[in-house]
Amino acid sequence: MKGTTLYGPRDVRFEDRPEPKIIEPTDAILRIAATCVCGSDLWPYRGIDAPKEPVPMGHEYCGIVEEVGSEVKHVKPGQFVVGSFFASDNTCPICQDGYQSRCVDARPMGNEGAQAPYLRVPLADGTLVATPEMPSNDLVPSLLAASDVLGTGWFAADAAAVAPGKTVVVVGDGAVGLLGVLSTKQMGAERIIVMSRHADRQKLALEFGATDIVTERGDEGVARIKDMTDGLGAHSVIEAVGTQESMMQSIRSTRPGGHIGFVGVSHGVELPGRELFFAEVHLLGGPAPVRRYLPNLIDLIWNEQINPGKVFDLTLPLDQVAEGYRAMDERRAIKTLLMP
Ligand SMILES: [Zn+2]
Repeated sequence: MKGTTLYGPRDVRFEDRPEPKIIEPTDAILRIAATCVCGSDLWPYRGIDAPKEPVPMGHEYCGIVEEVGSEVKHVKPGQFVVGSFFASDNTCPICQDGYQSRCVDARPMGNEGAQAPYLRVPLADGTLVATPEMPSNDLVPSLLAASDVLGTGWFAADAAAVAPGKTVVVVGDGAVGLLGVLSTKQMGAERIIVMSRHADRQKLALEFGATDIVTERGDEGVARIKDMTDGLGAHSVIEAVGTQESMMQSIRSTRPGGHIGFVGVSHGVELPGRELFFAEVHLLGGPAPVRRYLPNLIDLIWNEQINPGKVFDLTLPLDQVAEGYRAMDERRAIKTLLMP
């Protein structure tokens, strides 16, 4: 088969590699129904944390189980399944506490390379969640979104303690920020302020339930949020970028006692201790434990209560994956869906 490989900055190739096989008895092999390019894939694509040798790419996936290893008990061939970007056993003490992305045996799915027609999923029973039946084609983009960006936006909203009546600020208007808006709306927030400068993303944010748009950034952005919240700051802030500026903007936009969910992959962020001390905010972030939320998210999608698949504004055949990366890198697309 052919799969996606990153050779170096802006050098993505779709090339021959061996079809994945069962290696451990707890593995499953999926035939991918749809996969996509993640905002976090753009960091190595742009040469930040670039790989030293060619690496397979892709960690978002859904598809049909082709084959399972001898110790897989619950996942069955023929099922349509969704999994997280970290495989997890879902049984260790950390998983039991709901932090499956930090499972003692967590396996990053990026190592397997989901931007391909077939994918090996380790720890299949702990990782994969089956849909009630075979989904219709129009549900597939939303189910794929649950694999990472929706699960991550949901975790961010949960970590930010979003609840009815709260004022929420979302820093970052990529797919995760936008689905943070959708999640926040589902959790009953009263006011949802999105910090965005892009017209197409603002439009989708409003569709997902945002009530206000702020275009200013940095100190000016913080001043705007303070103006809108009686000088107090927001109850809950979602940070979905991962830079020093976005992190400080998030902390300074939060009122004392408020909560921040930070899910942008941190790059070069250093927090000033003394400012953090007096900010008196709750901080919870990291790679989202998507597995914790998958059953609920699949249910919401299945019953058409949410349509997170709207974040995909470009669909390409998998063999045009390089164009999918380019379009996101150049901000011509919010998120690229890839069809094998
Ligand atoms: Zn575990």
